[in-house]
Amino acid sequence: MLDRGLEETPDITGSSERFSLPDPEVRQEGHATVFENFQDVCRDLDREADHLLKYLQDDLGTSAHIDESGRGRFTGNFAGRRLRDALESYADRYVLCSECGLPDTSIEREQGAELLKCAACGARSPTSG
Ligand SMILES: [Zn+2]
Repeated sequence: MLDRGLEETPDITGSSERFSLPDPEVRQEGHATVFENFQDVCRDLDREADHLLKYLQDDLGTSAHIDESGRGRFTGNFAGRRLRDALESYADRYVLCSECGLPDTSIEREQGAELLKCAACGARSPTSG
């Protein structure tokens, strides 16, 4: 911990602003839902597309794949709000540090378990359970 400026910590409170999640751009196409900006969301979250896709499939209870344009394509019709809910729960679990709430994290795999490692505060916490 740094020992300078502690007395005058500016505007950092326990209720710091939430990580702002990108809004999913969703389009219905027949009986499928196309997640247009899937790659952008992966980049913003700094997570692998396959990892996020698998989570969304499970959360929505459907099957999905990444098409040739890099968009997420889900079987069934899902509203943008539903996708956003799923993204928020993904971020809570796999992106935001459970200790400090910052998104400066990476996923490490150790002995078959996934750990969320935080570059901001150094916390390591399991992503499952
Ligand atoms: Zn942290």
